[in-house]
Amino acid sequence: MHEYHIVEGVVKQILEKAKSSDAKKITTVTLVLGELSGLQEESIRVYFENLSKDNILAGAKLIVKPVKSKLKCKDCGTIFEHEKSDFNCPKCSGLGVLASSGKEFYIDNIEIES
Ligand SMILES: [Zn+2]
Repeated sequence: MHEYHIVEGVVKQILEKAKSSDAKKITTVTLVLGELSGLQEESIRVYFENLSKDNILAGAKLIVKPVKSKLKCKDCGTIFEHEKSDFNCPKCSGLGVLASSGKEFYIDNIEIES
């Protein structure tokens, strides 16, 4: 049920934003989902559909953009994607530290009809 509450929170935010811009209908919602967020795209879609039945979100297209966690090289500053268990910089083999966690889950964009 943990996931359900997270999606419910995001849907609430979407509806509030739409309300403040006088939307009659929401056509497309884009969400950013980090690969380490622990959320499954499939369950997000199910919950989203469930939560959008009786409001202006009904029939909206849902786009989920997956993002990988990113590392930053301590030596040369290169930002690179975290692949498997490799923490080393592709340029200089220096050690990378986390630059973005990959646990993101947020609203990237909402398209509305007013
Ligand atoms: Zn480097």
